Amino acid sequence: MSHELFSARWWSPAEGNAVRCELCPRHCVIPEGGHGYCAVRRNDGGDLFSLSYGHPVSLAIDPIEKKPLACFMPGTRTFSFGTFGCNLGCVFCQNDSLSRGTYADHELTAVIPPEQIVELALEHHCPSISYTYNEPTVFAEYVCDIARLAHTAGLKNVLVSNGYIADAAADELYPLLDVANIDMKGFSEAFYGQMCQASLAPVLHSLEKLRSLGVHLEVTTLIIPGKNDDLTELGAWLDWVETRLGLETPLHFSAYHPAYRCRIPRTPPATLYAIRDLAISHGFQNVFLGNI
Ligand code: SF4
Repeated sequence: MSHELFSARWWSPAEGNAVRCELCPRHCVIPEGGHGYCAVRRNDGGDLFSLSYGHPVSLAIDPIEKKPLACFMPGTRTFSFGTFGCNLGCVFCQNDSLSRGTYADHELTAVIPPEQIVELALEHHCPSISYTYNEPTVFAEYVCDIARLAHTAGLKNVLVSNGYIADAAADELYPLLDVANIDMKGFSEAFYGQMCQASLAPVLHSLEKLRSLGVHLEVTTLIIPGKNDDLTELGAWLDWVETRLGLETPLHFSAYHPAYRCRIPRTPPATLYAIRDLAISHGFQNVFLGNI
């Protein structure tokens, strides 16, 4: 595989020639020649490199509502792209061809520099760029470099993310955003541990950070029968959102379908209707259902 390597940010040397990636809370210690959990950050000679920088694997123009975003520039189109890799391990992943894909399996073509992404968005008359499809945290250097240029060109920056990011990187990335849709996988540490090989606390921290920065924030949850559809637990989650983010926060609840390593039957529409009723009775004004 021939691949121009881009130096990664947010890491430190570890024992021997290993490195510790500090981009997300996983804090992978990566031996020389190895990759992090996300598969797109590689230790080469004791330095950490981003394999995804400059290599989008999917470019499209989407309606902004598809992100999903219901209350930000409705009716506009957004220039969207992703890469390979993800820092969570959700057994129910609805997009594993990208999230679990690696650059090792593909012939790479020329690097697409940040300037070219912005030019493409302008050329196609898109007022925003969306970092989406897979988890943008794992290509945060690329996002930051594009996002700065996008703002200079008058474009908005849209992040569709799991919110699983460490503070140092979030402190650089989040102030560059205009809008974020954070994918809340579930509402307990047990769910994040069992279903995503991750933890909930950093995601809650990210939500509060985005709110404190004034980034337009919407929150999405894929509802999985028997896993995160308990109305009592959802009620506690709605209490948290009301207190920490505010009742004006748009909430999206989507139907899951069996995918990747999860064979639980798809979400019945009645489950989503009951959750929407609960959120509305709680006082949320903007509640949306998806995939039904
Ligand atoms: S971004 Fe990737 S390599 Fe870095 S800590 Fe997270 S999973 Fe590990």
